[in-house]
Amino acid sequence: MMRDFVSRFLGRFPRVIPFVAPVVKTIKKQFHSIRKPRMDPDTAGHLKGLLESRLRVLDVETTNVCNARCSFCAYRFRKRPSGIMSLDLFSALVDRYVVYGGGDLSLTPLVGDPLVDKDLIRKIRRARSHPSIKEISFATNLIALDRHGAENLLTSGVNWIFVSTSIGNRDMYRTIYGVDKYERVMANLFTLLKTNNELGRPVSISVSLRCSKPYRKVFSSAHYRRAVELLGRYISIIDDDYVNWTGLIREEDLPAGNKFRRVRDRKEPCEQLYHGLQVHVNGDVSLCCCVDIHGDLLVGNVHEDSIEDIWRGNAIRGIRTAWDAGNIPRTCSQCNMYAPLSAFLVLNRDRIAQRN
Ligand code: SF4
Ligand code: SF4
Repeated sequence: MMRDFVSRFLGRFPRVIPFVAPVVKTIKKQFHSIRKPRMDPDTAGHLKGLLESRLRVLDVETTNVCNARCSFCAYRFRKRPSGIMSLDLFSALVDRYVVYGGGDLSLTPLVGDPLVDKDLIRKIRRARSHPSIKEISFATNLIALDRHGAENLLTSGVNWIFVSTSIGNRDMYRTIYGVDKYERVMANLFTLLKTNNELGRPVSISVSLRCSKPYRKVFSSAHYRRAVELLGRYISIIDDDYVNWTGLIREEDLPAGNKFRRVRDRKEPCEQLYHGLQVHVNGDVSLCCCVDIHGDLLVGNVHEDSIEDIWRGNAIRGIRTAWDAGNIPRTCSQCNMYAPLSAFLVLNRDRIAQRN
């Protein structure tokens, strides 16, 4: 509530952000260090049981091809063949998800950009035609938005778009995103936000930035102010919170001055093991939608197994119980994206209960 108020306040007065942002950051860090999410064991057990009984998010990788080469991303290390999922396979998958009962649908690939897929909007429309498909979302670098058209995308039935980019100047963007597309991305970002406003904001848009330190230059840039004005809220910068991609990325690969996210212990399973499934372009299914670059968490293939059988099957049960016994999958033991299940349950208790 307070966070939302501050965010909207800063959205109205972007000129004060260079002065207020460091204070907000300090308060946020203090708050996180004293906040310890708690829940009684019975409620936690009940919510965990609900998650185990039913898949809530199907993440379909419509493509694993990317048009950027971000320094902080493991895209350059992936070994899986690259490709774009056919409309037929995508439609068949959605149909099976509908038969299962539906739920949220994410189109964010492990690595890759959904807008590279020329059929993305047809796929979203296909999914949206089913009432049991709830929220449709994806993350993108926005480089290829102009190929689809902002209005086409915003009226396709998508609910959330998460934009990852860098704002400030062309050189910084090229260093971090590995391609010389700064002007194109800024034009696409402003068109997306402006068109969404004109349409009455049918889509929730989040923007998060990857920038070099110091951030003062970002906050005082004309592009940053324009984006904040159009979005109507503060736009945050990922700050010392980067993923190490199980050791493939080094701290010197991050935007200048940044550090990796820190993980203290891994006593309980990662929230990702209860969150959803990711279907790869070739039909393989992973239990982790974020970091499984080595394929350590593959639990089935949609050409052979049903969603129900995969979600309630032995492969997933084995990974979860092994973790409880202290046997953490190799990828997870090296991954700093880890987040404890208990915190996820506290933050999402109403949502979990409602969606069952
Ligand atoms: S972070 Fe996203 S945009 Fe950048 S290379 Fe990786 S997949 Fe592509
Ligand atoms: S620890 Fe990392 S790799 Fe393992 S499930 Fe969590 S996010 Fe995925």
